[in-house]
Amino acid sequence: MKKRSKDQTTLIHAGRDPKKYGGVVNPPVMHASTILSESVAAFRGKHRAWKEGAPLYLYGRYGTACQDSLSEALCALEGGFRTMTFPSGLAACAAALIACVKVGDHVLMVDTIYGPNRQLATRLLARFGVETQFYDPLVGAGIEQLFRRNTSAVVLESPGSLTFEMQDVPAIAAVAKRRSALTVMDNTWATPYYFKPIAHGVDLSVQAATKYVVGHSDAMVGAVTAASEAVYGRLLDTHWDLGMHLAPDDAYLAQRGLRTLAVRLKQHWEAGLELAQWIAKQPEVARVLHPALPGDPGHAIWKRDFSGASGLFGVVLKPVSEKAFAALLDHLKLFGIGGSWGGYESLVMPFDPRDQRSATQWPDPGPCFRVHAGLEAVEDLIADLEDGFGRLRKAL
Ligand SMILES: *Cc1c(COP(=O)(O)O)cnc(C)c1O
Repeated sequence: MKKRSKDQTTLIHAGRDPKKYGGVVNPPVMHASTILSESVAAFRGKHRAWKEGAPLYLYGRYGTACQDSLSEALCALEGGFRTMTFPSGLAACAAALIACVKVGDHVLMVDTIYGPNRQLATRLLARFGVETQFYDPLVGAGIEQLFRRNTSAVVLESPGSLTFEMQDVPAIAAVAKRRSALTVMDNTWATPYYFKPIAHGVDLSVQAATKYVVGHSDAMVGAVTAASEAVYGRLLDTHWDLGMHLAPDDAYLAQRGLRTLAVRLKQHWEAGLELAQWIAKQPEVARVLHPALPGDPGHAIWKRDFSGASGLFGVVLKPVSEKAFAALLDHLKLFGIGGSWGGYESLVMPFDPRDQRSATQWPDPGPCFRVHAGLEAVEDLIADLEDGFGRLRKAL
């Protein structure tokens, strides 16, 4: 066999060891707090070995078969040093950033960051004496001008939450490296299947596995992969200190979801692109925000760095009344109205980019909504949206 398998193969086999569990294909769900040792020597040895990274069970909070399976498989996909799992995507984002900072530090955070991360920075981190400055997602290598003597972390998310701006990740990571700052990237949109932050110079790659990894809208899971042993040490300490623990049932669902990620993502990508192209042709639409669409301002970077797209994108309408906007989204039969995404079912969600940015200005006056293309037949999804645009026109 070749030395390194294709990602599609890695997804199926990494982090599984049927021989260990009597031939059972999937890892068993172990409900545990106490994990017994046979002797004092075994107890002491186990703690030492675990701290050095040996895969064994120490105490429930530090994970058992399912958390280990998920960590190992994700780490293989990310191409990192090691992966830690978290009880939510936000817990993963928070722990990754906290691992990088101390009192008196300065953080550069992209203006199009997932909203709750902005609050982590402006509330909790500010209270602990860490100052955060938000930056334009399009800054590229120009980020160097924003660096201060005490800049210790740069936070990226590409494409940006809600508005899908693409960042020049390798250019920003190179500057950060030169200035001895750590980089944390939220890579939930592409997943490590379609974009590999660590190969592009990022130190901590964050995944809200709640979305595409779990894939079935039924569990909250986060993961952080460290590029190196040194960064992993900081992450591990933070995980311990904050008492983080991903429940075994949810770890089970995430490692199971991961097995089918490749086939699901391909369908989300294709369906999302078809919907985006159809929506872009409607006369009431000002812009569609989707980096995989030729003509999108982020398309060149997407094409250079990413090997695929997921099914999530944004739509900006020309100015219409709230009544007309609601007529479009209310009463869709196949699209639920809701947050989160990455599940098998299609979703829409209204949003206003003005609520969530401070370093840049949103130019469009019209209302916006986000679309998550699920795994339904695309013709059916388009027919549903066609009815919605019909309702909007009647309400104009
Ligand atoms: C949903 C999301 C998160 C948070 O994940 P949860 O599991 O909901 O806590 C973080 N980042 C991005 C980009 C997300 O979309």
